[in-house]
Amino acid sequence: MGNVLKGRTIWQVPTGKLLAAVNLLAPELGEGAWGVVEVLGDRKGKEFREHAARFLLRCGIDVLESEKVARAMVGEERFWSIEEWARFYGEFISEKKICSAPVFPLVFPWGKEVLSSSCPLCGGVVRYCHSAFLGLDCLYGDPLTLSRWCELHRSYSEAYSEEFPRIIVVSGEPVSSERPFQDVTIGFRWYLLHQAIIPESRNRTYHEQRMLLPPEYEVPSAAVEAVKNTLLVLRSDRPKINTAYARCSDLTADGRHVLVGNFERTVRRFSVAVRPPGNYADVGLAASRRLPDDKVSSV
Ligand SMILES: [Zn+2]
Repeated sequence: MGNVLKGRTIWQVPTGKLLAAVNLLAPELGEGAWGVVEVLGDRKGKEFREHAARFLLRCGIDVLESEKVARAMVGEERFWSIEEWARFYGEFISEKKICSAPVFPLVFPWGKEVLSSSCPLCGGVVRYCHSAFLGLDCLYGDPLTLSRWCELHRSYSEAYSEEFPRIIVVSGEPVSSERPFQDVTIGFRWYLLHQAIIPESRNRTYHEQRMLLPPEYEVPSAAVEAVKNTLLVLRSDRPKINTAYARCSDLTADGRHVLVGNFERTVRRFSVAVRPPGNYADVGLAASRRLPDDKVSSV
């Protein structure tokens, strides 16, 4: 599969370009070149190939132990890091970008104790009911906002097939008219979001919903919730995304709440909507784990 938005695959790399790159790599392998090629071509070499691909997609940036542990605990389908941004979106994250971040985002902020603990929202285990991803503040050189995300995926879904996520906007109003939340970028940091809305959070006002949140949680922005849903759709055959709406932290200029959800399983599509304050049977609350105190930044 090519990356989601550019639709380009390895098979479209011009042969000359590919050979030139291999020729540059070969001398670095020295006498080991034969052995490497043998393992790469071995049917049993899947694990080796996966490791090699991961290293290349991360531009050689090491995976720290905290991230390794988190990926193993949360599971591939609900974990999204540097290599997934490169593999699915063709967006490479350089070491320079990582080093210039306000909080060094290579360290996964929540340890084993948190991931294996009981979830205060649903009573399950955090590692099974949450989804983890590295958020980006910029994609293809533009700030990553909700309107940008919707625009990218809308144009993608029109150009390609229906098996990939589509984000639509309901309420008859385009997201782009809904200032100021459309301009909020997501942070270049790790996120740990509850996959589903908080149980028992429907039929409540925003104020009442927030009372259900334990202190270690906050309400995510609609951009963060939308990215989480999209990444889940890309990674999982049966993503656990809300069929109800999740109310997010954003407000439109005239005081309406921004909602993300209404997942339609058959077409793998979810929606972004805005609705006046109030309690609704189909609107629950989204939840995001706060960064531990020592990892809080300005984002
Ligand atoms: Zn839970």
